[in-house]
Amino acid sequence: MARVRTVAVIGGGIAGPVAALALRKAGIEATVYEAYPHPAHGIGGTIAIAPNGMAALDIVGVSEPAAAVSWPVHRQMMTVGRTRLELPALAGVGPLQVIHRSDLYRILAADAPIEYGRRLVAAVQGPGGVTATFADGTEVQADILIGADGVHSTVRGLIDPGAPGPHYTGMIAVEGQSPATVPEEAGTMVFAFGKKGFYLYGPALGGGTTFGVNLPHRPLTIAEARAIPPAQWKNTLLEIYGEDSPGGDLIRALPADELTVNGALHIMPPVPHWYRGRMVLAGDAVHAPSNSSGQGASLAIESAIELARCLRDIPDIEAAFAQYERLRRRRVEKVAARAAKTNSIKAPGPIGKALMPVVMRVFMKLAMKPEKTIGPEQRYRIDWARPL
Ligand SMILES: Cc1cc2nc3c(=O)[nH]c(=O)nc-3n(C[C@H](O)[C@H](O)[C@H](O)COP(=O)(O)OP(=O)(O)OC[C@H]3O[C@@H](n4cnc5c(N)ncnc54)[C@H](O)[C@@H]3O)c2cc1C
Repeated sequence: MARVRTVAVIGGGIAGPVAALALRKAGIEATVYEAYPHPAHGIGGTIAIAPNGMAALDIVGVSEPAAAVSWPVHRQMMTVGRTRLELPALAGVGPLQVIHRSDLYRILAADAPIEYGRRLVAAVQGPGGVTATFADGTEVQADILIGADGVHSTVRGLIDPGAPGPHYTGMIAVEGQSPATVPEEAGTMVFAFGKKGFYLYGPALGGGTTFGVNLPHRPLTIAEARAIPPAQWKNTLLEIYGEDSPGGDLIRALPADELTVNGALHIMPPVPHWYRGRMVLAGDAVHAPSNSSGQGASLAIESAIELARCLRDIPDIEAAFAQYERLRRRRVEKVAARAAKTNSIKAPGPIGKALMPVVMRVFMKLAMKPEKTIGPEQRYRIDWARPL
């Protein structure tokens, strides 16, 4: 197959626009097609971008605008009941940057060509290219199609109808900015294992405290979760975190309608086929680690850039996809495996609960050795200039 000239990128979240920016840098024309009818301005909660993710954003020229609207986390603590630990930092690595998801989308969308209201429903590939069909009946043609359509990916099923789907972690994410204050200094994030559930918090930029919970809950779609009245969510949160300090106080002080329900947390098991013919996957569609990794967005950004780099340097499409998978699979599966261990502590089954004191001791010991755990994740850098 000949060198790629045009790309249809499905999904205007994080991986999609970053892929389009990186492809443009590689001299390849790309358009992003997003199912939602308009940009997600002002919608959704916050995410933390890891230093490796910020370094990757730098390659496509958006790390500075992203950093300008983020707040850095210089200090991380962990609390388990009354035990309180300061987590050692990685030497010479920048801070986590916490950003409103909609700010990141806005920054990426400012430069990437995105068409909204285009929900992919089918794609057919032939010797000369791929034809994508959207729910509104329109079609586009391109040399290749990138599925950056998230954890519930349509493209994944088009590549391999037998592909696994996402696993529900057993937790729903809810967050808010409470007017209650905490004693920690600005730039601190505390990971708190409460009596019945995990939450995290830190002083907010404009005063008060930002907090988020990983609430043990039956699975709900985002529509179902948002259909539940805010007061009911607040009660549910108080049932789980009400006795925790400061978790209970943060929730009590927050008006119910200021809670942001971000929805169910999923992870992707290893995906056997990352590509087929002219279609390939990137981001959560192929490697969603749990949010416990703090790496989902950063890995999505890295993969989008590495895919563009492979397409830049390797003329044969399938050879480029194969090289992309070689560069990425081991790394993303390692991160996912580490995060899965943390998840099993956040939402333990009956056996896990019985073993919890031992598991927790091992977990805390590991947390004190960041070079072993998060070091390889956060020190990773893509060498864009180096030809493959
Ligand atoms: C509550 C929560 C908190 C998180 N916190 C963090 C964090 O702190 N740090 C971190 O690194 N990661 C975090 N993550 C993970 C992170 O959000 C994801 O890893 C990241 O968004 C993946 O980007 P993506 O572009 O691959 O997928 P997404 O961001 O999911 O984007 C996929 C896009 O594709 C669109 N789409 C879907 N189907 C179609 C279709 N058929 N046609 C067209 N478009 C389609 C969707 O509308 C969406 O816009 C969190 C996730 C959740 C749920």
